[in-house]
Amino acid sequence: MTPIERRKEKYGYEIDGLWMPRVTAITSIVLTDHLLHYYARHRSFSDVRERLLNSARWGTRLHEAIANILRGEKCTEDPEIAPSLESFLQWKNEYKVKVLSPKDSIEKRVVDREFWYAGTVDVIAEINGVRGVLDIKTGNGIWETYSLQTAAYLRAYNLQEKKKCETRWILRVDQYRECLGCLAQKREKDGRASVRGGKRFCNHQWGPAVGATEFQRLDNEKEDVEAFLAAQELWEWCNRDWISRIPNHAKRA
Ligand SMILES: [Zn+2]
Repeated sequence: MTPIERRKEKYGYEIDGLWMPRVTAITSIVLTDHLLHYYARHRSFSDVRERLLNSARWGTRLHEAIANILRGEKCTEDPEIAPSLESFLQWKNEYKVKVLSPKDSIEKRVVDREFWYAGTVDVIAEINGVRGVLDIKTGNGIWETYSLQTAAYLRAYNLQEKKKCETRWILRVDQYRECLGCLAQKREKDGRASVRGGKRFCNHQWGPAVGATEFQRLDNEKEDVEAFLAAQELWEWCNRDWISRIPNHAKRA
């Protein structure tokens, strides 16, 4: 694979003979405070990279297990992620979540054929009777870039499908152990233990791993779509050197 081919694969999709950037590559140019702090908290760049890779693996495991549940398949028997899955199921029942046709609703590819970007939506769901785009997150917070990401998905989905989505949501599925004494929380999703809150001088006694969910509906679609398209323009400018050498790069007419 040539360096250009590697980049094409890493940062985009080839669809019907045309190459276009992926939504999450575009939104990654927005450097949020939490990411800066995350880098600053750790010893070295390679340490952070390894942790981020571990977090991504955790996310993939959980996404696959959740997709299986939504397809009505057998629940994954993976004790390490079981607390997260249990919380997910509780949330699913509480919010009356329906996935009408799993085949077309889970990991749904969406393409904006006007501005030429593409992405993969986790789930198209009906939640409390409202149809929308749902993105599932497994990190430690709900960050602003998710507004851009899901606005791009919603726009592209509604451009390509007859049955429209009304809104977009983020569901964050978390998992941690709590100290029985000081209530500090310990997370191990990035492969190493990190402790937040509680008392500094406590001989922590960790309880069992528990899951938790945080669910948020995102509004202001128009504003977020505009910001996303601006980010796309900036992303393409930042990467213009190699993008200009892609013969089948899809461009706005
Ligand atoms: Zn403690």
